[in-house]
Amino acid sequence: MPEIKDLVRENIQALAPYSTARDDYDGPVGIQLDANENPFENGYNRYPDPHQKELKKLIARIKGVTPESVFIGNGSDEAIDLVYRVFCEPGRDNAVAITPTYSMYRVAAAVNDVEFREVPLSEHFGFNASGLLEAADDRTKLAFLCSPNNPTGNLLDPDEVERFVRAFEGITVLDEAYIDFAPESSFLPRLAEFPRLVILQTLSKAWGLAGLRLGLAFASPEIVGYLSNVKYPYNINCVTQEIVAHHLTKGPEEAVRRLVKERSRLLELLPTLPVVREVYPTDANFVLVQVDDPGEVYRRLIEGGVIVRDRSSLPGCAGCLRITVGTPAENERLIQLLGQI
Ligand SMILES: *Cc1c(COP(=O)(O)O)cnc(C)c1O
Repeated sequence: MPEIKDLVRENIQALAPYSTARDDYDGPVGIQLDANENPFENGYNRYPDPHQKELKKLIARIKGVTPESVFIGNGSDEAIDLVYRVFCEPGRDNAVAITPTYSMYRVAAAVNDVEFREVPLSEHFGFNASGLLEAADDRTKLAFLCSPNNPTGNLLDPDEVERFVRAFEGITVLDEAYIDFAPESSFLPRLAEFPRLVILQTLSKAWGLAGLRLGLAFASPEIVGYLSNVKYPYNINCVTQEIVAHHLTKGPEEAVRRLVKERSRLLELLPTLPVVREVYPTDANFVLVQVDDPGEVYRRLIEGGVIVRDRSSLPGCAGCLRITVGTPAENERLIQLLGQI
């Protein structure tokens, strides 16, 4: 198996990252005349910590990993873009992914001029490692898996995920954006077993902090080091760092409990509606629902003031709408509107 270093682009291996004078010492210094900041205090006049030291310590403690294996991004989307920039030579390397899945992997590939190879999930959106391994060649640097998967909602079979990660010679990115809804299935406790694995999580879903923009990547200290060298130095602003630290004192369990309860109610009610053809099993905070005429159902819901996501153009998702679990009143309205179609 290749060393991490051999997977990294040569220009990134050679990169001398941006540094600040504050990297040279640890601890409080009274008079800061190094960064051309405005010295008059207003709460925001100083640059944030580019290494997010305090926040990483907190997150590491909550997640049971070392701070050195934590990367903090401006949303998971930043980490998705960065793995391309660290590992993929534009115009030469490629990435593989399951399909249907989260569309950012493909968009970030296109932005970085990286060929993107999609391998369909099986009939019930099941994941089979062999197909994805076959799509890879000696220029495949990245593989994207998403579990629970967006938009299908299901967890990928953990044995197949493990089989893939062990056999794939590049970097596997396992996106666990929805794992708080199925916490016992996370690969994070086993991170150390897989040197070429990057696990993505986010505060945008169960944690309820989408507006603050904070995504997490967990990987070996070596991989975290490369991502950190390439990111913008001040990618997480001081408001986000402060407010997130405050919110981390209370976990997502209460919201998860309420949403899972609401999800069960939707899973009971949706199949009873004439307009609904199929409701797919879900381990996330959304439900994929198949109807006969998704465009019409989408339009009728919009008229009733409810917006859902039309995913009917994705492979294997003909007729499918993705519906996020809302508050009890919101879900009530959804069911009422669907019942009228
Ligand atoms: C919502 C979502 C994310 C979260 O992205 P952020 O940039 O952290 O808000 C990541 N991956 C998947 C699959 C998602 O659905």
